[in-house]
Amino acid sequence: MPAHRSRTTLVLAVAAVLTAGVAAPATAATPTPKSPVAVGFGGAVASIDADATAIGTRVLREGGNAVDAAVAVAAALGVTDPFSAGIGGGGFFVYYDAKTRRVHTLDGRETAPKTADENLFVENGKPLPFADAVTSGLSVGVPGTPATWAEALRKWGTRSLAKTLKPAEKLARDGFVVDQTFQTQIANNAARFSAFPSTRSLYLPGGAPPAPGTVFKNPDLAATYAQLERNGVDVLYHGPIGADIVKTVQKPPVDPASTLNVRPGKLTAGDLAAYDVIERRPTHTTYQGLDVYGMPAPSSGGLTVGEALNILENFDLKGASKADYLQYFLESTRFAFADRNRWIGDPAFVDVPARELLSQRFADSRACLISKDKAATSPVAPADPRHPASCTAGATAAPTPYEGENTTHLTVADKWGNVVAYTLTIEQEGGSGIVVPGRGFLLNNELTDFSFTPVTPGVPDPNLPGPGKRPRSSMAPTIVLDHGRPFFATGSPGGASIITTVLQVILGRLDRGLSLDEAIAAPRASQRNSAAAQVEQAFLDQDQGKLVADLKARGQGFSTTPAEIGAATGVERLRDGRWLAAAEPVRRGSGAAQVVWPANW
Ligand code: GLU
Repeated sequence: MPAHRSRTTLVLAVAAVLTAGVAAPATAATPTPKSPVAVGFGGAVASIDADATAIGTRVLREGGNAVDAAVAVAAALGVTDPFSAGIGGGGFFVYYDAKTRRVHTLDGRETAPKTADENLFVENGKPLPFADAVTSGLSVGVPGTPATWAEALRKWGTRSLAKTLKPAEKLARDGFVVDQTFQTQIANNAARFSAFPSTRSLYLPGGAPPAPGTVFKNPDLAATYAQLERNGVDVLYHGPIGADIVKTVQKPPVDPASTLNVRPGKLTAGDLAAYDVIERRPTHTTYQGLDVYGMPAPSSGGLTVGEALNILENFDLKGASKADYLQYFLESTRFAFADRNRWIGDPAFVDVPARELLSQRFADSRACLISKDKAATSPVAPADPRHPASCTAGATAAPTPYEGENTTHLTVADKWGNVVAYTLTIEQEGGSGIVVPGRGFLLNNELTDFSFTPVTPGVPDPNLPGPGKRPRSSMAPTIVLDHGRPFFATGSPGGASIITTVLQVILGRLDRGLSLDEAIAAPRASQRNSAAAQVEQAFLDQDQGKLVADLKARGQGFSTTPAEIGAATGVERLRDGRWLAAAEPVRRGSGAAQVVWPANW
């Protein structure tokens, strides 16, 4: 395991040639090294970014616990992975407490303004085009991430918010080395980023995305973090940063020369002041005698992964051929997604039959519709978990609505055995595209996770916008326990495909003989109740295409967009007491895994 060069070393090496916010030709700027797998003692950290992971490991090494480290990593990701997550967004935090052996969750999902109703995204009787809704003030929900950090630290951390944000503040101020992913994410969004002077000047300095190998600084974000450190998150929910957010949403700072029609939103200071992080009981299901804990509604992550696992308990996945295993895997989520779309929304607004969705009886009634030899025809209809009727297909089918494909997931464990699985997001890559002027962070477009209009006319849709409502999510931070002790934890980005990715990682690890890092790396497929499952090219290429030919003969369909599905991370407690940290080896430019005291043998 190579020693990781510290941020300080790098910064000293290049400081002389830097200008704030501008990419410098940095011959001395070597990116912090990263490895997708690490094994050892003292705790473990896995995230998509080397600097963020290194910061988390340092917190652990200096005596912080998993919660302290997770918040520090998340804050660093707000600097280096700002198009996926940051203080302008929200997320879900799952925490295993080693002392009590209990799992807790925090719901830091964004909320709609009080004025929102079901017609939030309807204009002249028609749903807005998706792209118009994304880049607008209308899609911006009250950010939940700052409050999540403060609440997690208050409840379970050992360090102050001020101390925890410091390393990320420094990273934003001193800069980090741009990689290809950072550049590509800006290039993907250049047209809309350039419409906002605040976004353009930060991310398109000199009119182009910064080049890989150059150093990028965000002094405005450093100053924002410093304010949060000095004054706490009230400065955002009740103070001047919040006032700037409100101004930005209500009057998007769009370049008058731009042709983009950027609709304003109606978020108010009152909406920000009313925001609450909610501690929720985790979802719980057993699988092969293990306890699987996840995120409840308004995320559909825990419930849908749990339903699929319960469905799959009906089949022998360990003994199945690879093709049979994949057939069952694809069919389980085909049915679970039908139920998800019909029943899951913000529990403050809809009566989510959570217990019933996770009942084995309901899962068995769905498993009964699955054939080893023949794929069901999508969209399959949802069933009523309150009245499970074995082998009865429902009447009205609902297609799977589109959702975003970005986000970031981090996983941390400490030397005491506490574990955090934390997924956070600003929704689309680049969120709404709007940087709050002078503050250095992008606002989310999370409200586009609502249905714009009822998905199936005539069938109640639990995910229509409402006042103060939280849009349904797919984020699925997951912790698996074995007799009350941590076994492994994982999670992924990827919009609705998060659910299938997390399920596939769990099955790979538990049923298919893969190590956690192998399960994270494996070729991915995502069947979400549509005719064709989304798959990666590597999935099609397995066994020289024979595997997919076999599945096609059973009626499975496949499409290869998007090119990559998920960029998961995880940690596992090995039998000998060491931690394994695992991150993505290829996708999204690869992730970074570290342990406090490496020990490979
Ligand atoms: N907004 C998505 C969700 O909450 C996550 C964004 C993504 O991963 O693309 O499910």
